[in-house]
Amino acid sequence: MKKLFLIKYGEIAIKGKNRYLFEDALLQNIKKSLRNIGDFKLIKEQGRILVEPLKEKYDEEEVIGRLTKIFGIIGICPVIKVDSLDFQQIQEHVLHYMKEIYQDKKITFKVEARRADKSYPLTSPEIAREVGAYLLQHMPTLSVDVHHPQVRVWIEIRNSVYVYSQVIPGLGGMPIGTSGKAMLLLSGGIDSPVAGWMVAKRGVALEGIYFHSHPYTSDRAKEKVIELGRKLATYTGKFTLHIVPFTEIQLKIYEKCPHVQLTIIMRRIMMQIAEKIAKKQNALALITGESIGQVASQTIQSLGVTNAVCTLPVFRPLIGFDKQDIITIAEKIDTYETSILPYEDCCTIFVAKHPQTKPNLESIERSEKNLENIDAMIEEAIAKTEVIFI
Ligand code: ATP
Ligand code: MG
Repeated sequence: MKKLFLIKYGEIAIKGKNRYLFEDALLQNIKKSLRNIGDFKLIKEQGRILVEPLKEKYDEEEVIGRLTKIFGIIGICPVIKVDSLDFQQIQEHVLHYMKEIYQDKKITFKVEARRADKSYPLTSPEIAREVGAYLLQHMPTLSVDVHHPQVRVWIEIRNSVYVYSQVIPGLGGMPIGTSGKAMLLLSGGIDSPVAGWMVAKRGVALEGIYFHSHPYTSDRAKEKVIELGRKLATYTGKFTLHIVPFTEIQLKIYEKCPHVQLTIIMRRIMMQIAEKIAKKQNALALITGESIGQVASQTIQSLGVTNAVCTLPVFRPLIGFDKQDIITIAEKIDTYETSILPYEDCCTIFVAKHPQTKPNLESIERSEKNLENIDAMIEEAIAKTEVIFI
Protein backbone atom coordinates (compact mmCIF):
# COMPACT_ATOMS: atom_id res chain seq x y z
CA MET A 1 0.00 0.00 0.00
CA LYS A 2 1.49 3.27 -1.11
CA LYS A 3 0.52 6.82 -0.41
CA LEU A 4 0.24 9.21 -3.34
CA PHE A 5 -1.38 12.50 -4.25
CA LEU A 6 -4.02 12.65 -6.89
CA ILE A 7 -4.23 16.02 -8.59
CA LYS A 8 -7.50 17.13 -10.11
CA TYR A 9 -7.64 19.95 -12.60
CA GLY A 10 -10.35 21.64 -14.57
CA GLU A 11 -10.33 19.78 -17.82
CA ILE A 12 -13.77 20.48 -19.19
CA ALA A 13 -13.08 23.85 -20.72
CA ILE A 14 -9.86 22.78 -22.37
CA LYS A 15 -9.93 20.86 -25.57
CA GLY A 16 -7.61 19.65 -28.30
CA LYS A 17 -4.12 21.03 -28.51
CA ASN A 18 -4.66 23.48 -25.66
CA ARG A 19 -5.43 20.68 -23.30
CA TYR A 20 -2.10 19.06 -24.06
CA LEU A 21 -0.30 22.38 -23.43
CA PHE A 22 -2.24 22.88 -20.22
CA GLU A 23 -1.36 19.43 -18.88
CA ASP A 24 2.24 19.71 -19.91
CA ALA A 25 2.68 23.11 -18.24
CA LEU A 26 0.94 21.89 -15.10
CA LEU A 27 3.19 18.84 -14.95
CA GLN A 28 6.30 21.00 -15.32
CA ASN A 29 5.11 23.46 -12.68
CA ILE A 30 4.41 20.68 -10.19
CA LYS A 31 7.81 19.15 -10.89
CA LYS A 32 9.59 22.48 -10.33
CA SER A 33 7.62 23.26 -7.22
CA LEU A 34 8.50 19.94 -5.55
CA ARG A 35 12.08 19.83 -6.82
CA ASN A 36 13.84 20.70 -3.60
CA ILE A 37 11.67 18.79 -1.13
CA GLY A 38 12.14 15.19 -2.24
CA ASP A 39 11.96 12.73 -5.11
CA PHE A 40 8.62 12.44 -6.81
CA LYS A 41 7.41 10.66 -9.88
CA LEU A 42 4.65 12.36 -11.82
CA ILE A 43 2.23 10.26 -13.80
CA LYS A 44 -0.30 11.76 -16.16
CA GLU A 45 -3.31 9.56 -16.72
CA GLN A 46 -6.85 10.07 -17.90
CA GLY A 47 -7.41 13.70 -17.06
CA ARG A 48 -5.48 13.82 -13.83
CA ILE A 49 -1.98 13.71 -12.44
CA LEU A 50 -0.61 11.37 -9.81
CA VAL A 51 2.30 12.48 -7.67
CA GLU A 52 4.13 9.49 -6.27
CA PRO A 53 6.77 9.99 -3.54
CA LEU A 54 9.77 7.82 -4.33
CA LYS A 55 11.31 7.92 -0.87
CA GLU A 56 9.75 6.87 2.41
CA LYS A 57 10.58 10.15 4.10
CA TYR A 58 9.04 13.40 2.95
CA ASP A 59 7.10 16.21 4.52
CA GLU A 60 3.50 15.61 3.55
CA GLU A 61 2.30 18.94 4.83
CA GLU A 62 4.93 20.76 2.80
CA VAL A 63 4.02 18.82 -0.34
CA ILE A 64 0.35 19.69 0.07
CA GLY A 65 1.27 23.29 0.90
CA ARG A 66 3.19 23.62 -2.34
CA LEU A 67 0.50 21.97 -4.42
CA THR A 68 -2.14 24.32 -3.05
CA LYS A 69 -0.14 27.22 -4.51
CA ILE A 70 0.00 25.95 -8.08
CA PHE A 71 -2.45 27.57 -10.47
CA GLY A 72 -4.50 25.12 -12.51
CA ILE A 73 -5.05 22.60 -9.72
CA ILE A 74 -8.60 22.41 -8.41
CA GLY A 75 -8.16 19.66 -5.86
CA ILE A 76 -5.51 17.57 -4.16
CA CYS A 77 -6.46 14.16 -2.82
CA PRO A 78 -4.14 12.18 -0.58
CA VAL A 79 -4.75 8.68 -1.89
CA ILE A 80 -3.59 5.15 -1.17
CA LYS A 81 -2.69 2.80 -3.98
CA VAL A 82 -3.30 -0.90 -3.61
CA ASP A 83 -1.58 -3.08 -6.14
CA SER A 84 -3.69 -6.18 -5.63
CA LEU A 85 -7.05 -6.36 -7.38
CA ASP A 86 -8.23 -9.11 -5.07
CA PHE A 87 -11.49 -7.92 -3.57
CA GLN A 88 -10.88 -9.20 -0.04
CA GLN A 89 -7.57 -7.38 0.03
CA ILE A 90 -9.15 -4.21 -1.30
CA GLN A 91 -11.68 -4.27 1.52
CA GLU A 92 -9.01 -4.72 4.14
CA HIS A 93 -6.95 -1.86 2.76
CA VAL A 94 -9.97 0.44 2.67
CA LEU A 95 -10.75 -0.44 6.28
CA HIS A 96 -7.17 0.20 7.32
CA TYR A 97 -7.23 3.52 5.48
CA MET A 98 -10.52 4.55 7.10
CA LYS A 99 -9.34 3.59 10.57
CA GLU A 100 -6.27 5.77 10.21
CA ILE A 101 -8.37 8.83 9.50
CA TYR A 102 -11.79 8.30 11.07
CA GLN A 103 -11.24 5.84 13.94
CA ASP A 104 -13.81 6.52 16.69
CA LYS A 105 -15.24 9.50 14.85
CA LYS A 106 -18.96 9.72 14.49
CA ILE A 107 -19.44 10.41 10.82
CA THR A 108 -21.78 9.56 7.99
CA PHE A 109 -20.23 8.19 4.81
CA LYS A 110 -20.93 6.81 1.40
CA VAL A 111 -18.73 4.62 -0.75
CA GLU A 112 -18.37 5.70 -4.38
CA ALA A 113 -16.85 3.07 -6.63
CA ARG A 114 -15.64 3.28 -10.19
CA ARG A 115 -13.98 0.69 -12.34
CA ALA A 116 -12.08 1.43 -15.52
CA ASP A 117 -11.89 -2.25 -16.35
CA LYS A 118 -15.42 -3.41 -17.03
CA SER A 119 -14.40 -7.06 -16.85
CA TYR A 120 -13.79 -6.76 -13.12
CA PRO A 121 -15.99 -9.42 -11.47
CA LEU A 122 -18.02 -6.91 -9.43
CA THR A 123 -19.94 -3.93 -10.81
CA SER A 124 -19.43 -0.47 -9.33
CA PRO A 125 -22.64 -0.53 -7.25
CA GLU A 126 -21.72 -3.98 -5.97
CA ILE A 127 -18.26 -2.81 -4.94
CA ALA A 128 -19.76 0.20 -3.15
CA ARG A 129 -22.33 -1.90 -1.35
CA GLU A 130 -19.91 -4.62 -0.26
CA VAL A 131 -17.22 -2.26 0.96
CA GLY A 132 -19.82 -0.08 2.69
CA ALA A 133 -21.18 -3.08 4.59
CA TYR A 134 -17.66 -4.21 5.50
CA LEU A 135 -16.80 -0.79 6.93
CA LEU A 136 -20.04 -0.63 8.94
CA GLN A 137 -19.30 -4.01 10.40
CA HIS A 138 -15.80 -3.04 11.55
CA MET A 139 -16.22 0.61 12.48
CA PRO A 140 -19.23 1.06 14.75
CA THR A 141 -19.07 4.87 14.85
CA LEU A 142 -19.72 5.12 11.12
CA SER A 143 -23.15 5.29 9.57
CA VAL A 144 -24.30 5.47 5.99
CA ASP A 145 -25.95 8.49 4.39
CA VAL A 146 -26.31 8.09 0.65
CA HIS A 147 -27.73 11.57 0.07
CA HIS A 148 -25.62 13.95 2.17
CA PRO A 149 -22.67 12.02 3.55
CA GLN A 150 -20.02 13.90 5.50
CA VAL A 151 -17.39 11.76 3.84
CA ARG A 152 -17.35 10.21 0.40
CA VAL A 153 -14.95 7.29 0.13
CA TRP A 154 -13.80 6.91 -3.45
CA ILE A 155 -12.59 3.57 -4.72
CA GLU A 156 -11.24 3.56 -8.26
CA ILE A 157 -10.26 0.29 -9.81
CA ARG A 158 -7.81 0.70 -12.65
CA ASN A 159 -4.54 -1.22 -13.11
CA SER A 160 -4.21 -0.66 -9.41
CA VAL A 161 -6.81 0.41 -6.89
CA TYR A 162 -6.93 3.98 -5.61
CA VAL A 163 -8.72 4.95 -2.42
CA TYR A 164 -9.30 8.46 -1.16
CA SER A 165 -11.80 10.47 0.83
CA GLN A 166 -10.32 13.91 1.22
CA VAL A 167 -10.18 16.65 -1.37
CA ILE A 168 -8.07 19.64 -0.43
CA PRO A 169 -9.18 22.57 -2.58
CA GLY A 170 -6.63 24.03 -4.99
CA LEU A 171 -6.55 27.54 -6.40
CA GLY A 172 -8.01 26.77 -9.81
CA GLY A 173 -6.99 29.03 -12.67
CA MET A 174 -4.55 28.12 -15.44
CA PRO A 175 -0.97 26.85 -15.16
CA ILE A 176 1.65 29.60 -15.34
CA GLY A 177 3.21 29.69 -18.77
CA THR A 178 0.08 28.89 -20.75
CA SER A 179 -0.91 32.51 -21.40
CA GLY A 180 2.24 34.48 -22.21
CA LYS A 181 3.92 37.02 -19.98
CA ALA A 182 3.02 40.43 -18.54
CA MET A 183 4.91 43.16 -16.71
CA LEU A 184 3.56 44.04 -13.27
CA LEU A 185 4.09 47.55 -11.91
CA LEU A 186 4.85 46.52 -8.37
CA SER A 187 4.89 49.21 -5.70
CA GLY A 188 5.12 48.42 -2.03
CA GLY A 189 1.38 48.82 -1.55
CA ILE A 190 -1.48 46.42 -0.98
CA ASP A 191 -2.98 46.53 -4.45
CA SER A 192 -0.33 45.75 -7.00
CA PRO A 193 0.74 42.33 -5.63
CA VAL A 194 -2.92 41.29 -5.61
CA ALA A 195 -3.34 42.54 -9.18
CA GLY A 196 -0.30 40.55 -10.30
CA TRP A 197 -1.51 37.44 -8.52
CA MET A 198 -4.90 37.64 -10.19
CA VAL A 199 -3.44 37.86 -13.66
CA ALA A 200 -0.89 35.11 -12.90
CA LYS A 201 -3.80 32.92 -11.84
CA ARG A 202 -4.95 32.99 -15.45
CA GLY A 203 -1.69 31.35 -16.50
CA VAL A 204 0.28 34.52 -17.25
CA ALA A 205 3.97 34.54 -16.32
CA LEU A 206 4.99 37.71 -14.47
CA GLU A 207 7.94 40.01 -14.29
CA GLY A 208 7.88 43.03 -12.00
CA ILE A 209 9.06 46.60 -12.25
CA TYR A 210 9.57 48.94 -9.33
CA PHE A 211 10.37 52.65 -9.52
CA HIS A 212 12.74 53.55 -6.77
CA SER A 213 13.45 57.14 -5.78
CA HIS A 214 16.46 56.84 -3.57
CA PRO A 215 17.05 58.54 -1.13
CA TYR A 216 13.48 59.84 -0.99
CA THR A 217 12.33 56.26 -0.76
CA SER A 218 14.43 54.18 1.58
CA ASP A 219 16.33 50.96 1.03
CA ARG A 220 13.79 49.32 3.28
CA ALA A 221 11.04 50.28 0.84
CA LYS A 222 13.03 48.53 -1.86
CA GLU A 223 13.56 45.48 0.37
CA LYS A 224 9.84 45.38 0.96
CA VAL A 225 9.14 45.25 -2.78
CA ILE A 226 11.71 42.47 -3.18
CA GLU A 227 9.95 40.60 -0.38
CA LEU A 228 6.64 41.01 -2.20
CA GLY A 229 8.34 39.60 -5.29
CA ARG A 230 9.37 36.61 -3.19
CA LYS A 231 5.82 36.11 -2.01
CA LEU A 232 4.54 36.20 -5.58
CA ALA A 233 7.26 33.77 -6.62
CA THR A 234 5.79 31.15 -4.28
CA TYR A 235 2.94 31.05 -6.81
CA THR A 236 4.73 31.87 -10.04
CA GLY A 237 7.86 29.78 -9.48
CA LYS A 238 10.24 32.60 -10.29
CA PHE A 239 10.06 36.35 -10.48
CA THR A 240 12.33 38.82 -12.22
CA LEU A 241 12.22 42.28 -10.70
CA HIS A 242 13.43 45.38 -12.55
CA ILE A 243 14.32 48.22 -10.21
CA VAL A 244 14.34 51.52 -12.07
CA PRO A 245 16.17 54.51 -10.57
CA PHE A 246 13.50 57.20 -10.71
CA THR A 247 14.79 60.07 -8.57
CA GLU A 248 16.14 62.28 -11.33
CA ILE A 249 12.99 62.04 -13.36
CA GLN A 250 10.82 62.81 -10.35
CA LEU A 251 12.93 65.83 -9.42
CA LYS A 252 12.73 67.03 -12.99
CA ILE A 253 8.94 66.77 -13.03
CA TYR A 254 8.83 68.55 -9.67
CA GLU A 255 10.95 71.36 -11.01
CA LYS A 256 9.25 71.82 -14.38
CA CYS A 257 5.57 70.94 -14.05
CA PRO A 258 2.59 72.31 -12.09
CA HIS A 259 2.51 70.49 -8.79
CA VAL A 260 -1.14 69.57 -9.10
CA GLN A 261 -0.11 67.50 -12.13
CA LEU A 262 2.90 65.78 -10.58
CA THR A 263 1.33 62.44 -9.91
CA ILE A 264 -0.34 62.05 -13.24
CA ILE A 265 2.78 63.00 -15.19
CA MET A 266 4.85 60.69 -13.03
CA ARG A 267 2.37 57.87 -13.73
CA ARG A 268 2.57 58.49 -17.48
CA ILE A 269 6.35 58.29 -17.44
CA MET A 270 6.23 55.15 -15.33
CA MET A 271 3.98 53.57 -17.93
CA GLN A 272 6.31 54.55 -20.76
CA ILE A 273 9.32 53.07 -19.03
CA ALA A 274 7.42 49.94 -18.02
CA GLU A 275 6.33 49.49 -21.60
CA LYS A 276 9.85 49.78 -22.98
CA ILE A 277 11.16 47.23 -20.50
CA ALA A 278 8.14 45.00 -21.10
CA LYS A 279 8.80 44.94 -24.84
CA LYS A 280 12.46 44.11 -24.29
CA GLN A 281 11.41 41.20 -22.08
CA ASN A 282 8.73 39.95 -24.47
CA ALA A 283 5.94 40.80 -22.07
CA LEU A 284 2.68 41.37 -23.89
CA ALA A 285 0.82 43.57 -21.41
CA LEU A 286 1.23 45.77 -18.33
CA ILE A 287 -0.54 45.17 -15.01
CA THR A 288 -1.33 47.78 -12.36
CA GLY A 289 -3.19 47.73 -9.06
CA GLU A 290 -5.47 50.63 -9.94
CA SER A 291 -9.11 50.71 -8.90
CA ILE A 292 -11.58 53.42 -9.90
CA GLY A 293 -11.73 56.36 -7.55
CA GLN A 294 -9.30 55.05 -4.95
CA VAL A 295 -7.05 58.13 -5.19
CA ALA A 296 -6.82 61.22 -7.39
CA SER A 297 -4.70 59.45 -10.00
CA GLN A 298 -7.32 56.73 -10.29
CA THR A 299 -10.38 58.69 -11.28
CA ILE A 300 -11.75 57.63 -14.62
CA GLN A 301 -10.34 60.85 -16.13
CA SER A 302 -6.88 60.25 -14.66
CA LEU A 303 -6.87 56.64 -15.81
CA GLY A 304 -7.70 57.85 -19.31
CA VAL A 305 -4.85 60.33 -19.34
CA THR A 306 -2.43 57.73 -17.97
CA ASN A 307 -3.58 55.20 -20.49
CA ALA A 308 -3.09 57.59 -23.39
CA VAL A 309 0.69 56.98 -23.41
CA CYS A 310 0.39 53.19 -23.53
CA THR A 311 0.46 51.06 -26.63
CA LEU A 312 0.43 47.71 -24.86
CA PRO A 313 -2.78 46.54 -23.22
CA VAL A 314 -2.92 47.53 -19.54
CA PHE A 315 -4.60 45.03 -17.26
CA ARG A 316 -6.21 46.47 -14.13
CA PRO A 317 -7.82 43.45 -12.53
CA LEU A 318 -8.83 45.39 -9.41
CA ILE A 319 -10.64 48.11 -11.30
CA GLY A 320 -14.03 47.38 -9.72
CA PHE A 321 -12.86 46.17 -6.33
CA ASP A 322 -13.40 47.89 -3.01
CA LYS A 323 -10.37 48.20 -0.77
CA GLN A 324 -11.69 45.64 1.70
CA ASP A 325 -12.13 43.05 -1.06
CA ILE A 326 -8.53 43.65 -2.11
CA ILE A 327 -7.33 43.29 1.47
CA THR A 328 -9.17 40.00 1.79
CA ILE A 329 -7.26 38.59 -1.18
CA ALA A 330 -3.98 40.11 0.03
CA GLU A 331 -4.46 38.24 3.31
CA LYS A 332 -5.31 35.02 1.54
CA ILE A 333 -2.20 35.16 -0.66
CA ASP A 334 -0.03 36.29 2.24
CA THR A 335 1.16 39.63 0.87
CA TYR A 336 -0.83 41.82 3.25
CA GLU A 337 1.55 41.76 6.21
CA THR A 338 4.44 42.80 4.00
CA SER A 339 2.43 45.45 2.16
CA ILE A 340 1.43 47.26 5.33
CA LEU A 341 5.00 47.65 6.59
CA PRO A 342 5.34 51.39 7.04
CA TYR A 343 7.94 52.23 4.40
CA GLU A 344 6.29 54.57 1.98
CA ASP A 345 6.70 53.95 -1.72
CA CYS A 346 6.54 57.60 -2.61
CA CYS A 347 8.00 60.55 -0.78
CA THR A 348 5.44 63.17 0.20
CA ILE A 349 7.35 65.96 -1.50
CA PHE A 350 6.32 64.43 -4.82
CA VAL A 351 2.64 64.40 -3.97
CA ALA A 352 0.58 67.60 -4.14
CA LYS A 353 -1.91 68.36 -1.37
CA HIS A 354 -4.74 68.73 -3.86
CA PRO A 355 -3.83 66.90 -7.04
CA GLN A 356 -6.02 67.28 -10.10
CA THR A 357 -8.76 64.70 -10.18
CA LYS A 358 -9.96 65.56 -13.67
CA PRO A 359 -6.81 66.16 -15.65
CA ASN A 360 -7.06 67.27 -19.23
CA LEU A 361 -4.86 65.44 -21.72
CA GLU A 362 -3.85 68.52 -23.75
CA SER A 363 -2.95 70.43 -20.63
CA ILE A 364 -0.85 67.54 -19.32
CA GLU A 365 0.90 67.16 -22.67
CA ARG A 366 1.67 70.89 -22.67
CA SER A 367 3.25 70.61 -19.25
CA GLU A 368 5.30 67.63 -20.35
CA LYS A 369 6.82 69.76 -23.12
CA ASN A 370 8.76 71.51 -20.34
CA LEU A 371 10.59 68.26 -19.63
CA GLU A 372 13.37 68.82 -22.11
CA ASN A 373 15.61 65.74 -22.48
CA ILE A 374 13.05 63.48 -20.94
CA ASP A 375 13.61 60.83 -23.62
CA ALA A 376 17.30 60.69 -22.79
CA MET A 377 16.49 60.55 -19.10
CA ILE A 378 14.13 57.66 -19.69
CA GLU A 379 16.79 55.81 -21.66
CA GLU A 380 19.32 56.44 -18.92
CA ALA A 381 16.96 55.16 -16.22
CA ILE A 382 16.41 52.02 -18.25
CA ALA A 383 20.14 51.56 -18.76
CA LYS A 384 20.73 51.88 -15.01
CA THR A 385 17.91 49.52 -14.07
CA GLU A 386 18.94 46.84 -11.62
CA VAL A 387 17.60 43.36 -12.32
CA ILE A 388 16.99 40.90 -9.51
CA PHE A 389 16.12 37.24 -10.12
CA ILE A 390 14.00 35.72 -7.41
P1 ATP B 1 -0.57 49.99 -4.50
O1 ATP B 1 -1.28 49.57 -3.27
O2 ATP B 1 -0.40 48.91 -5.49
O3 ATP B 1 0.71 50.72 -4.18
P2 ATP B 1 -1.94 52.48 -4.63
O4 ATP B 1 -3.32 52.38 -4.17
O5 ATP B 1 -0.90 52.98 -3.69
O6 ATP B 1 -1.51 51.04 -5.19
P3 ATP B 1 -0.93 54.31 -6.64
O7 ATP B 1 0.20 54.68 -5.78
O8 ATP B 1 -1.74 55.36 -7.30
O9 ATP B 1 -1.98 53.35 -5.93
O10 ATP B 1 -0.40 53.39 -7.77
C1 ATP B 1 -1.24 52.81 -8.70
C2 ATP B 1 -0.51 51.67 -9.36
O11 ATP B 1 0.66 52.16 -10.02
C3 ATP B 1 0.02 50.65 -8.38
O12 ATP B 1 -0.95 49.68 -8.08
C4 ATP B 1 1.19 50.07 -9.12
O13 ATP B 1 0.75 49.13 -10.08
C5 ATP B 1 1.74 51.30 -9.85
N1 ATP B 1 2.79 51.97 -9.08
C6 ATP B 1 2.68 53.03 -8.24
N2 ATP B 1 3.87 53.35 -7.70
C7 ATP B 1 4.78 52.49 -8.20
C8 ATP B 1 6.18 52.29 -8.04
N3 ATP B 1 6.91 53.08 -7.24
N4 ATP B 1 6.76 51.29 -8.72
C9 ATP B 1 6.03 50.49 -9.51
N5 ATP B 1 4.72 50.63 -9.71
C10 ATP B 1 4.09 51.60 -9.07
MG1 MG C 1 1.04 52.71 -3.77
